[in-house]
Amino acid sequence: MSVIKNLLPILILLALSIYSYQRYDQLPQVILNGIIFLPVVLAALVFGLSIHFNRSSVFFYVLLIATANIVLGKELAQSSLSYALLSAFLPLLLLVLTVLPDRGIFSIRAIPAYVILFSAIGFSIVAAKVSPGWLNHILMTDWLPARYFDWTQQSQSILFISVAMSIAMLVLYFLRPSPHMSAGLGVLIMLIVQLHFGDSDSSLNVFSSTALLMCLYAVLQESWRMAYLDELTELPARRALREKFQKMSGTYTVAMLDVDHFKRFNDTYGHDTGDAVLRMIATKMNRVSGGGACYRYGGEEFSVIFNGKDNETAIPHLEQLRETIASTPFVINRASRRKSDNRSRQKKKKSVKVTVSIGVADSTSAASSPWDVLKQADKALYRAKSKGRNRVCD
Ligand code: GH3
Ligand code: MG
Ligand code: MG
Repeated sequence: MSVIKNLLPILILLALSIYSYQRYDQLPQVILNGIIFLPVVLAALVFGLSIHFNRSSVFFYVLLIATANIVLGKELAQSSLSYALLSAFLPLLLLVLTVLPDRGIFSIRAIPAYVILFSAIGFSIVAAKVSPGWLNHILMTDWLPARYFDWTQQSQSILFISVAMSIAMLVLYFLRPSPHMSAGLGVLIMLIVQLHFGDSDSSLNVFSSTALLMCLYAVLQESWRMAYLDELTELPARRALREKFQKMSGTYTVAMLDVDHFKRFNDTYGHDTGDAVLRMIATKMNRVSGGGACYRYGGEEFSVIFNGKDNETAIPHLEQLRETIASTPFVINRASRRKSDNRSRQKKKKSVKVTVSIGVADSTSAASSPWDVLKQADKALYRAKSKGRNRVCD
């Protein structure tokens, strides 16, 4: 689902860019006069935002888009070899900078990214001047019959690199779907298309603006995620719950869910295993029936909201959720606890059961606001705890 959700805006922007490119000449002069500033304005905006939010992949994407724009705009790649070098290195660098772990922008750990980037620029400048035969051979040879490729000015080697990088980025995207990855894929396609169409004003303005808009979308989407989603479980966080409460009225049920004896669990199996349990619980909660919306309230406490349902209709769904969690064995690799003991590393995989207690309250009681209902649900949760845990109480 998130695969389509992240990709859709990129596909829409892509379609719009092709449409705008074809209609570029029909645009009124006054708009054309303005459009030439669009890439610069967008680049400055996305550059600033990526630094502010420390989004290194987007920062490097903007650097690549700016490099393409400067080289093409100032007609610095006049020879066919220098144009081929630019067309080969941009997709390669984009893939490498995407694969490199996020290490910040102005940190020592970001040095490898700068070294790779400046080595490629340095190599391109020297190679374009010296024009070695072997490089010309690699980049310019027609490996296949030329008549199949008369639709593009790019050489067959460049086409091969472009297709290979696109497939690699697509695979990476499906492995780790995220706003950043979809922006990376979009920027790659925009760079390839831009280099295919050459250094005309229309190609430069339309495709680089679209690539920058994709980056802008990724930064905004990522900051929304940071603000509203809990990092560990990816469930909506307290801020999202607060906004939901502002909109709620009529009949609704609030449930508070708390993991039983979780401190003991952490003490026995370690904090990382505790985190994995919280993620498992979040996965189960996401599948709660009855249309319940789940939130991480904080720590090992979660909330479930049933809009339009009272206690009685919501409780069976919560009972089902409690039972699903209680009956799901959680496998603990005990070897990780005793790394020095090689024998135990090979064997012992222990499976444990984790239970949760749930307190429920609805808006049909005397409570006047969702926060009051939540407080009542919290009291019901304490009753569930004192009655022996692993139960739902209202
Ligand atoms: P009870 O059944 O009464 O709820 O007992 P409990 O041990 O779960 O309750 P308590 O509130 O004493 O402990 C909550 C524990 O949850 C303490 C804290 O270490 C753990 N915890 C809170 N947030 C996280 C988290 O993000 N990750 C992990 N691993 N543990 C967390
Ligand atoms: Mg608690
Ligand atoms: Mg607890």
